[in-house]
Amino acid sequence: MNGEVSLINSAQLFGTVVAVQANFYRVQLDRSQHKEIGEFSPNPLLLLCTRRTRLKKIGQQVTVGDRVVVEEPDWTDGSGVIADVLPRKSQLDRPAIANVNQVLLVFAVTDPPLEPYQLSRFLVKGESTGLDVILCLNKSDLISPQEQAEIEQRLGNWGYQPIFISVYKGININAVEKILSGKITVVAGASGVGKSSLINTLIPSANLRVASVSGKLARGRHTTRHVELFDLPGGGLLADTPGFNQPDLDCTPSELVNYFPEARERLKSGSCRFSNCLHRDEPDCVVRGDWERYEDYLNFLEEAIEHETWLKQQADPESNLKLKSKGKGRQQYEPMLESKKYRRVSRKKQQQTLQELYKESED
Ligand code: GDP
Ligand code: ZN
Repeated sequence: MNGEVSLINSAQLFGTVVAVQANFYRVQLDRSQHKEIGEFSPNPLLLLCTRRTRLKKIGQQVTVGDRVVVEEPDWTDGSGVIADVLPRKSQLDRPAIANVNQVLLVFAVTDPPLEPYQLSRFLVKGESTGLDVILCLNKSDLISPQEQAEIEQRLGNWGYQPIFISVYKGININAVEKILSGKITVVAGASGVGKSSLINTLIPSANLRVASVSGKLARGRHTTRHVELFDLPGGGLLADTPGFNQPDLDCTPSELVNYFPEARERLKSGSCRFSNCLHRDEPDCVVRGDWERYEDYLNFLEEAIEHETWLKQQADPESNLKLKSKGKGRQQYEPMLESKKYRRVSRKKQQQTLQELYKESED
């Protein structure tokens, strides 16, 4: 056994970072290597890792979702060293997760009532990640087949094929498992829709991660900004994302239209007269028209324009500062505030920036 262990120790192992806290990384080793390692339990193998100084020196960040090469595994205390990070296929910012494949939006068909505007917002936010968006509608046990057909028809017009599920009745949970298998998925949704219930169903407690490595990493587990990937028994990793649950739309005004599948369709079958059309009141616009979410589009567009204005002012702060005399010859720059609405957004955004800085300083 000893000889075998040393052989294994010299080898490189591949895994995925499932949690980060301070300078420690919890890495789940690929199951395909379990046999080589001599591990036969179906549970994921976890190592608590540090990262090589070389990675620190070259400024290589390691985030949740990163595919990494682990060296020097110590099987007795469950530790290792991250020697390399494989190139990222995607990068979500909030939450900071690499290599996410898809977004699973969970809403309820009723209780709380399905709010089209709110749902639309989540969908647009989801689309703006560039990842696949899957829509799951829970509590289907509470409505009639006819009501379900109506919702299906309506969302079909939006360009979505929702999966109707019931955590209570176990309806279509298998279908969800299949979709999650082998992928990294971020879950989002309004509260009260049964998101926690679904996650608990998908991840039986037997599989909840633990802690041969309980010490340092376990302590931070319940902080709000903590991101963690959970292992799904059917394969795949799942992140629940508090950060996603108040979706701010921060795309550019011209991008926005691409986040509405039904508008994308209209643009496929024709084009607007102006290439920089924002699809409001420009002549010969193929997007403007009689589709249900067009109003939502206009609302989000206002928001995106506000956001862009804010960004520009950030880039050129002096343009929006005025010099104010503070008496005794002292002078100070103060921001020129426009409307109340603008002020509100601005302050919120400033807070976010601070949060992001705070997060970075922790990484
Ligand atoms: P979360 O806020 O989205 O995490 O929602 P929870 O998982 O806490 O569930 C909110 C409420 O919905 C709870 O009372 C659950 O028991 C209930 N619930 C969850 N799934 C279902 C379901 O499939 N059908 C029905 N009728 N209720 C459900
Ligand atoms: Zn247009």
